[in-house]
Parts: sequence; C-alpha cells; structure tokens
Amino acid sequence: MIAAPPRGRAFRGNVLHTPERGRIEYLPDALIEVSGAGVIQAVHCGDSSRTAAVAAQYRDAGALVTLATGRYLLPGMVDLHVHAPQWPQLGLALDLPLEEWLQAYTFPLESRYVDTDYARGVYESLVEALLANGTTTALYFGTIHRQATQVLADICLRRAQRALIGRVAMDDPSQCPAYYRDPSAEVAEAETRAFIRYVRSMPGNEGALVLPVITPRFIPSCTDGLLGRLGRLAHETGCHVQTHCSESDWAHAFVLARCGVTDTTALARFGLLSRRTILAHGNFIEDPDVSILLEAGAGIAHCPLSNVYFSDAVLPVRRMLQRGVHVGLGTDISGGASPSILENIRHAVIASRSLEAGVDPRLGRAARRSPDSRIDAATALWLATAGGGIALDLPIGVFLEGYQFDAIVIDAQTPGSNLYVTENSAPEVILQKIVHHASRADIAETWVANRRVHVRSQE
Ligand SMILES: [Zn+2]
Repeated sequence: MIAAPPRGRAFRGNVLHTPERGRIEYLPDALIEVSGAGVIQAVHCGDSSRTAAVAAQYRDAGALVTLATGRYLLPGMVDLHVHAPQWPQLGLALDLPLEEWLQAYTFPLESRYVDTDYARGVYESLVEALLANGTTTALYFGTIHRQATQVLADICLRRAQRALIGRVAMDDPSQCPAYYRDPSAEVAEAETRAFIRYVRSMPGNEGALVLPVITPRFIPSCTDGLLGRLGRLAHETGCHVQTHCSESDWAHAFVLARCGVTDTTALARFGLLSRRTILAHGNFIEDPDVSILLEAGAGIAHCPLSNVYFSDAVLPVRRMLQRGVHVGLGTDISGGASPSILENIRHAVIASRSLEAGVDPRLGRAARRSPDSRIDAATALWLATAGGGIALDLPIGVFLEGYQFDAIVIDAQTPGSNLYVTENSAPEVILQKIVHHASRADIAETWVANRRVHVRSQE
C-alpha cells in the first residue's frame, strides 16, 4: 500500500527540461511530487502503474495539479542580470556608448530612488512583469538607496519571486556624479551591511527565498578602498557578489589603465571572486583570466541582447562553457531592450551564430569567421535554467529530486500564438518551437517552490 501523500502537491503533465548541457529530456505525462516547502521529492515517468497510484493519492487529497492538453511544464527562467531601477527606461536611451549612457540617462534615473514611493511603484510593476515573463529567479542590482532596495526585497518576498538583491555601492568621485554616489567607502560598507542584515531577518524569509548580494557597481565606479572592504565583507558574510566585468572596450581598457591588470585579476585581488560571484557580461575576459574564474568557481551572466547595444562584442559563450566556466543568461534590463529570458535564449543562439559566421562580408569568409562558436537550442535553454542555477549555486533549473520546484507552464494552444506543437510532436520539435517562438503570452502559469506566483490574465 502506498503511504498517504506528504503535505505538498503533485504536478501531472508533459515535462521538458535540460538536465545536462545540450541534452533535452522529455517526460510525457510525468508526475512530480513537491513538498510543502517546494522541494521536488520524486519525478515519476508517466507510463507506470505506480505513477497512476501516486497520482490518485494526491487527487483524493485535493493536491494534484493536472496540466491541460497542449501544455508543457518547463523549469522557470533564471535572469542573472537585472537593474531593477532601470525598468522605466527599458527600450529607451540605447543610443550612446556605455560610459556616456550612464552619465546622461542612467545615473539621473537611478538617483530618483531616494524617493521610496517612486521605487515602490516601479518595483511592483517590474516584479509583476518578470513573473508574467516566467522569470522565477532574478539577480537584481538596486540603487545606492538602502530603503528603496529594501522595498524591492519586500516585494519579491511578498510575491514569492526567488530573488538575489544588491544595494549598489559606488563611491569614486571621478566617475560618479555628486548627486548619485556614496559619500565614502565607510558609508557604502555600512549601508551594505545594514541591507544584508535587513534581508536576512525579514519575517517570512526563513527559507532564504530572498538573498542579499554584495554589489560594487563596477571597478570604474568604486575606489580601491571600497572594493577591498566589500571583498572582506563577502568573505565574512558568505554572501553572493555581483558586478560588471570587462563589458566593453572602454570598461576593459579603463580597468587595465587604472589597475594595471584585467577586471578579473583585479576583482580576485580585492577578494571579490568566489563560488557565489556573478560577473555581468565578461565579453573581454582574456584567456589567462579564465583559469582565475575556474579556480574561484565564479560565473558569467551572458547578456546577448544588451551586448549588441553596449558591449562592442559577442561573448564567446561556447568557448567559456567548453573551458568549464559557469554561465547563465541575463536580460540586463535596461541595457537590453527585452525583459524576457525567453527572448534572450533566442538572442544567445543568434549571437553565437553571428560570432561563428562573422559580420563583415568584405573580410571574406575565412577572415571573418570564428569557427566552433555556435550554440544550439538545447544549450541555450540550459543556460536560461540549469546554467543559471549552477552559476548561483542554488538547486534550481531542473526537475530532479532535491531541487526547488520553480516552473512555468507553456500553453501551446494559446489563441494567436506562434507556437505550433501537437501531441505527436517529437521532443526535439517541441524544444525548438518553444525556444524559437514562445513568448509571455504563452506562459499560462508561473510557480516558485510550492506557490503559484502568476496566472495569465485570461485563465
Ligand atoms: Zn548591468
């Protein structure tokens, strides 16, 4: 006899995920048991009598969620790079180089978050939009304002989005305007400490759904004194770290000129590279620095769409993966013009193909190509899910026992959808259709742990 189901739920339906890089697994009519705390207890294939018996137990207990015909359960999307305060300028102000864009548009916008009410309105809208787009985990930059960044943490916890959030530190008067910078390294460290304490003690956050992140904006914005303090704080607290690394020609050259070494080497010397460090962009990370990344276990947030606008180059993502670097995807709101990781999956594939083929026909085929640069659809989906989870050192992104049940339900029968998938479609067809065509409108539900955190409005 089968024991009574534990507290929690079971989900029955067609499951698609990438348990290993480049390999899809399709489980038709599978059953996933999830504990009350949201941890996957078991994954049963659909064609066994035991699956039917376990499903019946959950159904009798009123705890079975059955996907409708034409729906597919995928892991939730993991976004490794979001500037929450830049949500109002998404799709705008993409016309200047990075260093001018920061001064002309971005710092003036971010300075407005001294107004906590303004912050609340923007952040409510952003979290709602990201959940609707299937982003179950987001790694956020806030602003230098602790109160506003605490509001973001409150909202993520209340909406149950898995979130890693940093109060931005930036104190260098030569690069940061007087109206938007930390007055000193001491103040920046103290505010970062206070933010970490706040997040770790939020009522209802005992399961650490929301995590604090040490967040030096990037080396050009921070004095050596601040970077050293934050490195020691990372070691002391064990917090995640996020910053930008070798994003553009300008940023890469700036750090070389100031520090005499690359971003990666400088960050390592400041104590800011660890297994829980995520470096945004990383386009100009040089080969010798890869071994430093590997030694630390640090990861890269690949932002393919943002790179088109601000980075001067395409990240050689396949080479990074082949060398063993942890990589996931980021929207880089608002450096990229889309809030959707599904969109960025497509852009990751396209960027890799452009890198492989080259872009200037006048160079001739051999001269313009970078062979062996392309990634396929399965690898891109892996980057957006399991890859992001590995980079963050969190048990998310695949449907395996012991992992968190963070998921989206793709509805292939959405009226007006570009998806054309039938019950008889092969797994590879389903994967490619979803990777190349699925959009926000096709996401019927979003789940984080054991909570349904978003339902499409027409449901
Ligand atoms: Zn960024």
